[in-house]
Amino acid sequence: MAASKGKTKGKGKIPATLIPGDGIGPEITEAVVQILDALGSPFAWDRQLGGMAAAKSEGDPAPKALLDSIARNKLALKGPLTTPVGGGFRSINVRLRETFGLYANMRPVRTLVPGGRYEDIDIVLFRENLEGLYVAWEHYVAIDDDPRAVAVSSGINTRAGSRRIAEHAFEWAVRHGRKKVTIVHKANVLKALTGLFLETARDVASRYEKKIAFDDRIVDACAMQLVLNPQQFDVIVTTNLFGDILSDQLAGLVGGLGMAPGANIGPDAAIFEAVHGSAPDIAGKGIANPLALLLAAGLMLEHVGKEDLSKRINKAVDVVLNKDLVRTRDLGGKATTADFARAMIKRL
Ligand code: NAD
Repeated sequence: MAASKGKTKGKGKIPATLIPGDGIGPEITEAVVQILDALGSPFAWDRQLGGMAAAKSEGDPAPKALLDSIARNKLALKGPLTTPVGGGFRSINVRLRETFGLYANMRPVRTLVPGGRYEDIDIVLFRENLEGLYVAWEHYVAIDDDPRAVAVSSGINTRAGSRRIAEHAFEWAVRHGRKKVTIVHKANVLKALTGLFLETARDVASRYEKKIAFDDRIVDACAMQLVLNPQQFDVIVTTNLFGDILSDQLAGLVGGLGMAPGANIGPDAAIFEAVHGSAPDIAGKGIANPLALLLAAGLMLEHVGKEDLSKRINKAVDVVLNKDLVRTRDLGGKATTADFARAMIKRL
């Protein structure tokens, strides 16, 4: 898929940046664009290179054209980007979050293929995306002849940052008719760092008291309850590190990362993506599951007020997976990426 630079086509459509990404990215992006086109996509795509693809062709994994495009459109659908392990460039995903102040990471999971270990799961997790231990203010302290005898890491949670993510989660929950928000923390031990988060989130919750129920859980108890009885959870709001871990646990409850979409939302932009990575082991084989990126596109449709189109995607996904039984290999089927796209287009 060639990246055209900067220009968007399509009158009356919503300009949006499309980043095919690395590894399986271009294959799944192609499939998702075809499905959206068949649906009557409201987006005019501004294709941009990012990650390894951009590093190779333009010498920069986050070229100016990409950042300018997101700044202009304030909306992007992003394929997975490869981050070199150890040396090499810093994660572009983290850079995009910081550049555009994407403070809210939304990770919805629901049971799509019944018959697994858990049924009827429908949980939306909101993770604070910019603060906590992930600010990575780290250093070593030398003792005697060991320069790295002690490792120190500082976490930063602010009242403003905690309030912002809690308000986002409660507002979303109320607008979407959800029943309960659970605040997840570790305020019994990290009394300052997550105590401030809990205190602030409870303040926000009390303002929403008449509209929606809330409770709070210590993160370890929450992890256990998610395994024992996940149906008790509805919407979860938590800090950066806990959100990172719990959201992958949630994905595991409904069949893995191949089905998990994510949204990164801030005042200056919103970037939608699959939670999985670039899957280099299966790249170029045409067998990758495009479902997570498709569901991310569904979240993007909701974000721009096209809930009707998003609902049509969700309905068609259910029929394709559970009636037509068209499933890619990661879901135990034999379908290729293209087979899945064709089946979806028939059922829209
Ligand atoms: P990965 O998610 O790419 O792959 C893990 C396993 O899941 C692999 O076996 C892979 O084949 C499988 N898988 C992933 N997505 C699939 C799909 N859509 N269909 C079928 N199978 C799928 O994780 P990884 O191997 O740890 O990471 C590979 C690269 O991706 C790394 O460079 C990492 O930094 C990057 N990464 C990027 C993002 C992102 O851009 N948001 C997220 C995670 C990892």
